Amino acid sequence: MVHFSDFALHKSIQQAIHDMGFEEPSPIQEQCIPKILEGGDLIGQAQTGTGKTAAFGLPLIEKVTGQNAVQAIVLTPTRELAIQVSGELRKIAKYKKVRTLPIYGGQSIGHQIRALKQGVQVVIGTPGRVLDHLRRKTLHLDQVKMLVLDEADEMLDMGFQEDIESIIRETSTDRQTLLFSATMPQEILRLARKYMQDPQTVSISRKEVTAPTIEQVYYKVFERSKLESLCRIIDSEELELGIVFCRTKRGVDELTEALQERGYMASGLHGDLSQAQRDKVMKSFRDSTIELLVATDVAARGIDVGNVSHVINYDIPQDPESYVHRIGRTGRAGRRGIAITLVTPREMKQLRTIEKVSKSTLESRNVPSIEEVLERQQTIWRQQLVSLMDGEHELAPFMQVVDGLHEDYPVDKIAAAALSLAFSSTLADDASETYDFGETGASRGYVRFFINIGRSLDIRPPDLIKEMTELVGISSKAIGKIDIFENFTFIEVSEDVAPFVYEAMRNSRIKGKRVNVEPAKPRAKRT
Ligand code: AMP
Repeated sequence: MVHFSDFALHKSIQQAIHDMGFEEPSPIQEQCIPKILEGGDLIGQAQTGTGKTAAFGLPLIEKVTGQNAVQAIVLTPTRELAIQVSGELRKIAKYKKVRTLPIYGGQSIGHQIRALKQGVQVVIGTPGRVLDHLRRKTLHLDQVKMLVLDEADEMLDMGFQEDIESIIRETSTDRQTLLFSATMPQEILRLARKYMQDPQTVSISRKEVTAPTIEQVYYKVFERSKLESLCRIIDSEELELGIVFCRTKRGVDELTEALQERGYMASGLHGDLSQAQRDKVMKSFRDSTIELLVATDVAARGIDVGNVSHVINYDIPQDPESYVHRIGRTGRAGRRGIAITLVTPREMKQLRTIEKVSKSTLESRNVPSIEEVLERQQTIWRQQLVSLMDGEHELAPFMQVVDGLHEDYPVDKIAAAALSLAFSSTLADDASETYDFGETGASRGYVRFFINIGRSLDIRPPDLIKEMTELVGISSKAIGKIDIFENFTFIEVSEDVAPFVYEAMRNSRIKGKRVNVEPAKPRAKRT
């Protein structure tokens, strides 16, 4: 097994990796990191969710020196990704004096110019804005030793080819060039041939993996309401014993604590625990004094428990093989098992890869609404009451209380108050953070939105597509029919990404105007 300590990374970076809670390199990191450290160009076939950012980010930060010049530039298709990559690089560079700066359209250029003037070693930017800075001579790339094209296929899909080439030509020819892309169409290979020198290609080994024949489902969730979604899913399931997988040790600690606060019997397991602590957690899991074991892949590896009813991927696995390993922990010895995966909009692609490689189909489910959760809870309470009343339980001391009250209060009110006392802590929270756009008059599989900008602002479909793909971080393929009118526009986007579009577009600006996005009203039916 490969460890992060096997890589020639400075101890300040090893410490940062530890702080980030990574336990071991993901498959793409295992292959890329040593090659990038050695030097030489590299093409990585990987998408979001595989750990690709750290795959180039760790060696990138390792190589950057204190010299006051932009030494590395990462180009990303969207502002969202630029911010995300910048955040990850910043964490990697926590103990190193390296300044990173995301530059993207939509943010004041003056602010970016001031930040650049202060001295920045790593720039992460969208092609349009980077080019803008180059033309203004507020950004210089002649000292760049490393150029990274992240999500290159998306950048080309969005029409950034020329911009990218202009940017590459501003860098010195002895740079190291890295290209990451989920797919490898001809245009990418052409770009590689033109601007890379003998690149090595790395892809996650597509080992034959076959998922066990158990029920597999996925839920579309949002990063910010993931915890609430998880709780609702758990509440709507008949869960006996569940393993909940998180990506990092930190993730395990945070989720365990949050679940405990909400009254779930949960314990966490990861590599930083002592053997005694591990044994204790495992014992309580076997004895069923806990119902949920929250774990990283590494920690779960040694576990052998027979009656796991649910495997829940709170964080999507980094590769199909790990998916198959994880879900193989349920459905043992002929028992019924179910594997649940939470997927955020950006991770949809990773889900499709997992499905394809593991030859399984995951059924899509919607996170239960508060009403649905309540309905289920009520059924459970009823069952518990019936079994108490029909069983041998000693109810006499409680009967005396009821007797003492029922002269002044009706018996049904007393019963409800007693139930509230017993169960109100298990009531689901009302945080209606899932989206239901209702009927919007869209084509099948799409949601139709109304946007308050139109021809009067000189908006054309390609402008809108460009704005949306860059702003929201979706592929242009997810956009359907566009109808532009004088002062407003109807636009259809694929159901998968609709909530994301709604979240990201609201309160943004297009051509200086604040954008308002609403689900469209269905067109009046013709009679
Ligand atoms: P990416 O594929 O780069 O978008 O990364 C997806 C997520 O995985 C990010 O939240 C990373 O911080 C996280 N991640 C990256 N590498 C590892 C690792 N080796 N172990 C655990 N989590 C990781």
